[in-house]
Amino acid sequence: MNAISEQGLKAPTVKLLINGQFIESKTTEWREVINPATQEVLARVPFATQEEIDAAVASAKEAFKTWKKTPIGARARIFLKLQQLIRENMGELAALLTAEQGKTLPDAEGDVFRGLEVVEHAASIGNLQLGELANNVANGVDTYTLLQPLGVCAGITPFNFPAMIPLWMFPMAIATGNTFVLKPSEQDPIVTMRLCELALEAGIPAGVLNVIHGGENAVNAICDHKDIKAISFVGSTKVGTHVYNRASLAGKRVQCMMGAKNHAIVLPDANKEQTLNAIAGASFGAAGQRCMALPVVVLVGEAQKWIPDLVAKAKTLKVGGGTEKGTDVGPLISCAARERVESLIERGIADGAKLELDGRKPQLAGDYAKGNFVGPTIFSGVKPGMSIYDIEIFGPVLALVPAADLDEAISFINDNPNGNGTAIFTQSGAAAHKFQEDIDVGQVGINVPIPVPVPLFSFSGSRASKLGDLGPYGKQVVLFYTQTKTVTSRWFDDNSTGTLNTTISLK
Ligand code: NAD
Repeated sequence: MNAISEQGLKAPTVKLLINGQFIESKTTEWREVINPATQEVLARVPFATQEEIDAAVASAKEAFKTWKKTPIGARARIFLKLQQLIRENMGELAALLTAEQGKTLPDAEGDVFRGLEVVEHAASIGNLQLGELANNVANGVDTYTLLQPLGVCAGITPFNFPAMIPLWMFPMAIATGNTFVLKPSEQDPIVTMRLCELALEAGIPAGVLNVIHGGENAVNAICDHKDIKAISFVGSTKVGTHVYNRASLAGKRVQCMMGAKNHAIVLPDANKEQTLNAIAGASFGAAGQRCMALPVVVLVGEAQKWIPDLVAKAKTLKVGGGTEKGTDVGPLISCAARERVESLIERGIADGAKLELDGRKPQLAGDYAKGNFVGPTIFSGVKPGMSIYDIEIFGPVLALVPAADLDEAISFINDNPNGNGTAIFTQSGAAAHKFQEDIDVGQVGINVPIPVPVPLFSFSGSRASKLGDLGPYGKQVVLFYTQTKTVTSRWFDDNSTGTLNTTISLK
């Protein structure tokens, strides 16, 4: 929560979605949703009361009774319609997203689009939720599996992808026959709510999708609620670990996708121009606020001579409001985030890293002078043990680490606790193959800087970046949102006399 200003009192309120109705919260606790480029107050978001959270879960529980029996085709057609509505409203969705989150309009469209891909995938649920059947496992006995929905599932999402990440969650949970309670980030809930309006317009029945707002208390209420069966969380490692432990203790199935410190390796044989472009885009795009950003680049051997070229490339990036044509780097989400990133840059200098490019306090005109901007920042000579290496900065700050050879570069990555994503830039197939085999990170790019898999696969971050075994979207999430029921059946004809069997074997 934060204090509500005069402007905030006049701002529109973000609604709760309970039992198919967008309703005004009765809470006394509110927080402002602020445009991070200008500090304009866009809305006020409520911190839902316990009664409202209970009402959302009760509505989802009641709706599950009929939704779980809804035929596959009826479920799939809703997502066919939703993908069409998202496409038709892409411009509006991107504009809402940029206003509250800050990223550029093209990047905001990318955020919506990566979620839209999951909606398209949910529309093919008929092929995804198939069980297995083995005929004649014993005389006249068949065994088959049903993938049945769990009940009420919940999703807790971060600020950095307010379209994509809610769309990772509720379409697949609902397509598999569950009902859902979503708790979006309180920092930028507006585009998420617009997507939920479109979901209702597409035909999601009352109670099947519910939304509550809030922070720590709402999240704890979700973890503890006896009627919630499973939780999908995406956010920081600290909060994700808390959610995993608390909700697991309460008997729930939990998947948590968490923080990162992704490294890329650059070998001297890499295509130089392509590599510099890829690194600049992945390190500074979205102001570094991507869980798959590249905040660490390990320069191997002669590639260490590329530092001036990388600095020159970073200097060409335009810092500004996300709605301005040509902007490459928008603002950080909040004043607190800007202050935190600036203080980490201070610590980098104090720890002895070389500040090659200082992006603090870029000069911007008009309303943007008040925005939470930090420009591209580059340190060289960074080592493990320095704060800028050890901590997830989540800002446009790139740490360059020298390495003598590929083995040393790989050991930096495998020694780091995080395992969200990594990449190698090289023209050597042998080096790329060695990297693919030896690297202990769940998502690997080969000359691809941000290797986020499409929904034919699943998001597969690993080690400290993830708790729970199954990832979001794709095949893995079908298993996450369903319980496998295995049926072993035998049918007797009228003339069968049967035999007495006192062993456990099937005959
Ligand atoms: P966050 O952990 O602060 O917030 C995530 C959610 O948890 C929000 O809904 C928030 O309301 C709630 N929350 C915040 N503080 C809480 C508390 N003390 N107790 C209970 N709930 C709390 O994360 P963020 O700042 O919104 O997002 C950035 C983080 O998310 C980064 O660490 C980033 O790497 C990570 N992230 C990871 C992935 C991934 O797939 N691995 C994707 C996107 C973001």
